[in-house]
Amino acid sequence: MSSYKIDTKCVQSGYTPKNGEARVLPIYQSTTYKYDSAEHLGDLFDLKAPGHMYSRISNPTLEAVENKIADMEGGVGAMLVSSGQAASLIAILNITRAGQNIVAMSSIYGGTVNLFAVTLEKMGIETRFVTPEMTDAEVEAVFDENTRLFFGETLANPALVVFDFERYAAIAHKMGVPLVVDNTFATPVLCRPFEFGADIVTHSTTKYMDGHATVVGGCIVDSGKFDWNAGGKYPELTTPDESYHGVIYTQQFGAAAYITKARTQLLRDMGSTMSPMTAFILNLGLESLSCRMDRHCSNALAVAEFLSGHDKVEWVDYPALPGNAQYELCKKYLPRGACGVISVGIKGGRAAATKFLNNLKLLNIVVHVADARSCALHPASTTHRQLTDDQLVACGVRPEQVRLSIGIEDVEDIIADLEQALNA
Ligand SMILES: *Cc1c(COP(=O)(O)O)cnc(C)c1O
Repeated sequence: MSSYKIDTKCVQSGYTPKNGEARVLPIYQSTTYKYDSAEHLGDLFDLKAPGHMYSRISNPTLEAVENKIADMEGGVGAMLVSSGQAASLIAILNITRAGQNIVAMSSIYGGTVNLFAVTLEKMGIETRFVTPEMTDAEVEAVFDENTRLFFGETLANPALVVFDFERYAAIAHKMGVPLVVDNTFATPVLCRPFEFGADIVTHSTTKYMDGHATVVGGCIVDSGKFDWNAGGKYPELTTPDESYHGVIYTQQFGAAAYITKARTQLLRDMGSTMSPMTAFILNLGLESLSCRMDRHCSNALAVAEFLSGHDKVEWVDYPALPGNAQYELCKKYLPRGACGVISVGIKGGRAAATKFLNNLKLLNIVVHVADARSCALHPASTTHRQLTDDQLVACGVRPEQVRLSIGIEDVEDIIADLEQALNA
């Protein structure tokens, strides 16, 4: 890990050209790599020497971006994958098999809930959801000897629930399992979960990390801190892997056991690989990430303040807004800001919210968040349109609720657009 500050790591980490080499990270558009001897390649296959064999498993362009993200998060290693969904899936399958279970916060991203409650369930892995209202004892009672990990999300999409890292890290570790955290909305610029006890971090790089709505991608980062040997619960890491000539990951790779196995076994077998071109574009996004996050945060806070004083607005939910129920947690874990996503309730219910959206000019209606361009979505008339008002409330979406993703434009233009749409 480099000793530079996070803003410097965004720009410089991961790729250091040698004398005469390209200053900018090259795109290694090659599936394959050339070796001088069969013996050397044999050593690569046995994981005895570092290097690239085939781009399904690793590639120099991806490796540079992986090293940058690992450095930004403060981890020992990272692995890029084809999407955020693939990152969540592989992070779990790496240490959980049929017949076992995981514990997850109920407020996590809806796509992750589907993956856990429907698809993992079909694969024989059960998910036990816990809520922030439950006491420590109630949460602990959900674990059993077959529980393999605890899964949370730093700043939940779209509920904006701030994860109480220290509380849940203590519970996970008491129960002998690692804490896995989806850090997509915060990015390592706003929060580095390893500093608060998380063991594994996942990302949808599709959101702020790319930041321009251009490439779908995901990443898993390993803190290297979890002791896989301690409870005897993770034989896939601590006993011989027959699919790799009997390698024992914890013996051969030490702190990087988890992330090495994720690559050499699961990326090899499942093939959810990111392309070199995508990694290159992602890296351009990462170079400006710290500037963009500061702007997203300051713009969103100004918008939240404007909205909370407006007479056409029923309520505003933004964790960094003083008076918000999560303000203290937000200050503790996200002192630099709470990203660009705001939920707002428009007076007049579903019809008023739809009208407000239709009158926006600068803000576009899209099914995306975390873009440089400001955008808006009305869940009740789009993603959740089949549901009645009562059903909406039951799943945590209110009829009058609009989700805003505040971009990096001039905040006066954003506020002017919101104001004309509210008054129209
Ligand atoms: C979007 C998102 C995902 C899924 O990522 P994709 O790149 O769309 O597969 C996972 N977690 C969070 C928090 C997200 O916002």
